[in-house]
Amino acid sequence: MMGKLYSEQTARLIRDNLQCIRERIAAACAAAGRSEEGVTLMGVTKTVDAPRVQAALDAGICHMGENRVQEYMEKKSELKLTGVTTHLIGHLQTNKVARIVGEVDMIQSVDSERLARTIEKESAKKNIVTNILVEVNIGHDVAKTGLPPEQLEDLLHILATMPHVKVRGLMTVPPILETKSDKRKVFMNMHKLFIDMKGKKIDNIDMNILSMGMSGDYSEAILEGSTMVRIGSALFGERVY
Ligand SMILES: *Cc1c(COP(=O)(O)O)cnc(C)c1O
Repeated sequence: MMGKLYSEQTARLIRDNLQCIRERIAAACAAAGRSEEGVTLMGVTKTVDAPRVQAALDAGICHMGENRVQEYMEKKSELKLTGVTTHLIGHLQTNKVARIVGEVDMIQSVDSERLARTIEKESAKKNIVTNILVEVNIGHDVAKTGLPPEQLEDLLHILATMPHVKVRGLMTVPPILETKSDKRKVFMNMHKLFIDMKGKKIDNIDMNILSMGMSGDYSEAILEGSTMVRIGSALFGERVY
């Protein structure tokens, strides 16, 4: 048996943070009258070294999100990922698609037809179906990636024709906002869009995952209908770049 690569202190810190996050998720679910099972917790591991990621997985995190292909591939070989679902959540360049297709369970950051077509092509080559979320720039933030919401329905119809790409829902990173009520408004708009698209019942499109909410705003996101929260710094501590 290989010894643990992280200290008991690291393990305790992450366990304590995780417990605190779970309590806040439970409180938000209770306030919204929602079941806790309806909210998936993802640990966001960008800049976090493999031993600390492993500490989180050992503490019970079973969804892991990475931003960058290179960083994910380097860490992957050092982690025990059995039973762990892995996601790419950061902006993906088309020239990195071939490296990541087949290496993660889901790509959450699909925001253009061109990127989707590249994923389709690489998935077909590997004879697999790649689960994706469409990333929506709900706040029309010029500093952010993501598809403008007005273009979503058209893209979904195009994605529906791709046999090796399976849409599972939507993802968003909202603009930086000061007040909780402003945040909730943005999340509410995103949830409306999600429900609207779900109601269209487009063939071959699942609309079951709404990935929104990070360390600073996951309670608000849950109150407005998020089904997956992506938590980095509240779990691992502030990032050191
Ligand atoms: C970094 C990141 C997160 C997590 O951010 P925290 O504020 O540390 O929780 C979530 N989603 C995406 C897309 C990210 O890049």
